[in-house]
Amino acid sequence: MNISKTLQLNLWPKDRFRICIACKTPLPLEQFYEKRSRPNGRFSKCKACELERGRDKYRNNPVKEAERKAKANQLDKQRAFAAYGGSRCVCCGEKELVFLSLDHINGGGSRWRRQKLSLYRWVRQQHYPPGFQVLCFNCNWAKSHGGCPHVPMPRNVTGV
Ligand SMILES: [Zn+2]
Ligand SMILES: [Zn+2]
Ligand SMILES: [Zn+2]
Repeated sequence: MNISKTLQLNLWPKDRFRICIACKTPLPLEQFYEKRSRPNGRFSKCKACELERGRDKYRNNPVKEAERKAKANQLDKQRAFAAYGGSRCVCCGEKELVFLSLDHINGGGSRWRRQKLSLYRWVRQQHYPPGFQVLCFNCNWAKSHGGCPHVPMPRNVTGV
């Protein structure tokens, strides 16, 4: 223990202060959670450090973490669809969320991939830039393979 810590201990009555074993800070006893099974009736870590440890536990729980991420992704997805005209395929009208995805209208769009973000997160961070539309996977796939059969040929091309 260094000198200043010793001084602090002498200045602060031991029955009302304790040094947290984690952050090494002398703190009033109220800053420690009560625990009757301990001889001194308190945790040896302060409340802040106990909470920090709790967060670590949560962070290191892969199942919980995956659940949290899935929820966040779902929310990002719904937000993105709402920003781009609603949860509905602009081509065929499919409304089932699991079939829908965000389509980069003019293709490309590798920028967001480079940032290792989901597209939904990326467009949120970019404040939903223009150039995206909601498509179902069928229409999306068809579009990238010569055009979706749902889409009538442009009139000026067919002359109809
Ligand atoms: Zn502490
Ligand atoms: Zn569709
Ligand atoms: Zn289509």
